Amino acid sequence: GGGGHNRSGSIGRNGTHKKDDSNSYSNGIQVIDENKEFTPYLPAYLTAQNLITTGFSYHVVAVFGSQSTGKSTLLNHLFGTQFSVMDEQARRQTTKGIWMSRAVEDAKRSDPRGMGNNILVMDVEGTDGRERGEDQDFERKSALFALATSEVLIVNIWEHQVGLYQGANMGLLKTVFEVNLGLFLKDRSTTHRSLLFFVIRDHIGHTPLQNLSNTLMQDLNRIWSSLSKPPGLEDSKINDFFDFEFVALPHKILQPERFVEETQKLRKRFREGISPEVEVMSGSNGVDQRGDGGGVFLPVYHRRIPADGFPRYASGVWTQIVTNKDLDLPSQQELLAQYRCDEIAATCTAGFNEIMSPFEERAKAGRVLEGLGGAMKEALGEAMGGFEESGGRYHKGVFERKREDLRENLEGRLRGLVVGQFSALSKRAVQEFTEEVTGILRLANASGQSASSNYDFALVVNQTRTKVVDKFIAEASESYIPGAEWSNYESELTSLQTALDEIAAKLRGEQMQRLVARLEKAIRSKLAEPVELEFRRMEDNSEEKGNLWDRVWKVWTETVGEGVEGFLTRAGNLNATEKERDIGAWKLRKKAWGVLKAKIEEEVMEGNILLKLRENFEDRFRYDEQGVPRVWKPKDPIEQTYTTAREATLKLIPLISRIRLSSGVEPPLTEFLSDPPTDFEEDVDEMGIAKDEFEVLGEAKQVDLSTRFKRMADAVFVEAKRSTVSSVAE
Ligand code: GDP
Ligand code: MG
Repeated sequence: GGGGHNRSGSIGRNGTHKKDDSNSYSNGIQVIDENKEFTPYLPAYLTAQNLITTGFSYHVVAVFGSQSTGKSTLLNHLFGTQFSVMDEQARRQTTKGIWMSRAVEDAKRSDPRGMGNNILVMDVEGTDGRERGEDQDFERKSALFALATSEVLIVNIWEHQVGLYQGANMGLLKTVFEVNLGLFLKDRSTTHRSLLFFVIRDHIGHTPLQNLSNTLMQDLNRIWSSLSKPPGLEDSKINDFFDFEFVALPHKILQPERFVEETQKLRKRFREGISPEVEVMSGSNGVDQRGDGGGVFLPVYHRRIPADGFPRYASGVWTQIVTNKDLDLPSQQELLAQYRCDEIAATCTAGFNEIMSPFEERAKAGRVLEGLGGAMKEALGEAMGGFEESGGRYHKGVFERKREDLRENLEGRLRGLVVGQFSALSKRAVQEFTEEVTGILRLANASGQSASSNYDFALVVNQTRTKVVDKFIAEASESYIPGAEWSNYESELTSLQTALDEIAAKLRGEQMQRLVARLEKAIRSKLAEPVELEFRRMEDNSEEKGNLWDRVWKVWTETVGEGVEGFLTRAGNLNATEKERDIGAWKLRKKAWGVLKAKIEEEVMEGNILLKLRENFEDRFRYDEQGVPRVWKPKDPIEQTYTTAREATLKLIPLISRIRLSSGVEPPLTEFLSDPPTDFEEDVDEMGIAKDEFEVLGEAKQVDLSTRFKRMADAVFVEAKRSTVSSVAE
């Protein structure tokens, strides 16, 4: 365990890196211990220090240099940290491994919470190997770690070490540069710059800073040219990757006030934060030309790792260094990005689930989900927004890929809901449409309105159709997600409209049937009296009015004509097509013919027709030409009269037995009915014209009728004869 003492001399902490207690972080946190273990408590530390949520608004600075060159002392002066400083008496190594501490906040700053205050400072174990000579590997690795994770690396060096190319610092720098180049800087296009901030300690002042920095720069360039560089970077310059700055500090022990004064000046420069207008211009010699007083942290140095990802990033870098994996920094960033983006996506999905799961549950019922659109937008917006906010700081390529994965995943789930919603909305629209239209029709039919003109089927259908379609559009469009083609309801709307049109057509068809039936009934009742009348005067035959069938045909065609006209008017109100109207009119005419045939059949029913023939016969036999009842006298020609009357009436039987106009031909029925409309299949055969459409009484029935009539006429004659006899007898 570590045996370090802090400045106040309190007892050091054994196994500190295992502790997770923010109160014990007064010396910062041991990020990497002497066993090369990376602490698991860095997130806890950053959280305790309020840094975890700062996103990109933080800085990392590390120190590099020989053991006991006053590094910790310098850091404590610059950043107000409390890194352990070597005990003057004990003269033993104080800093084990790598420590990290947050710089003390500068309360005088205008924005005390600003980026310039969020500085993570890393104190790295000394590198002269005096105390840990057996483990130069560790020193190299910790130096490499400091270089790879920091924006600014403070290189701490005694003035008298300057120019000693073989000095421990410079030798180590060579190794570190080499490995850094091999491991992390392979791809120049994706790497960034770091600032090597040389602090020359115990500057006596004989040699001007400019001379010292020139010497150092020469050494550095020499180191660089002697490096073995990876392919493609053979010609790279040290300034391609690093900026340099040099400052000198007075001797702390000999000039304590001046030391404090100068470190305070320096301290301010580290607090400047980012000043974008200050541009680093590395001259040909690589010496920074910002001059004194400018901010130290420049945006180009920032690693673009969000604070909450820093612990994982840093440990990844460390693992890579320790295991010397031949991976480069960008892929390390990618690994981190994948890890973090997956975590963030899981969190965002959880939030999404909270909103959407209840809908998914309810969707199983197949009904319309109220509020789906709003919930979808909220859930998707929050999930994607949250992901973009937290994940957007990570490696761009990975972030974008993961974002698409997340979107696909979430939208895939919404898609199922939306498809279900559309079909539920469509189903509901169809149902409402059907219910409403049939409801109105039932009411109208019940009150007999459908037969009158103030009822407008087409209007009812159109209004209801518009209503349910508008409702569908309003609700379906709520589920629209910009950019998601599947959330477009157009095709569902089209099939809904087709479905509604089919239902309307079916309802209209039913209404048409009803209308035909109604008008058939009307024709039947209108026809009854005139036909009865014509049969009563069936023997009438005049030039002007024609015979029985001329007149029946006339009254029938007129009645049917009126009926068809009425039908066509109402069919117009039903918004029927021309074909539908043709079919309806044809059916009506055909049915009307059936009505007539039925009426005729009724008239010629045995009892009826016999009665009519008897009346006809009696009119002739019992009444004279003036319509006066005959009183038979013995000398009257009873037989003669009887025979004439009987024959005249018997002549009516062939007339009524067959429908034939006075011109001798059958009525133009086929012409009147016209051909059935083309491609109209419905019971054409059943409604087809029978073989002998115009036969009223068959041969046998005629004979039978004549026989019965004759028998009846005979009876009348016998009775007349008897009355004569009795009158003679009186
Ligand atoms: P580090 O552990 O190598 O970073 O060095 P420390 O900060 O622990 O200091 C080592 C010793 O050097 C301590 O005894 C300090 O008092 C002393 N020291 C600190 N700063 C300076 C300085 O600027 N000049 C000199 N000569 N000694 C210093
Ligand atoms: Mg130290």
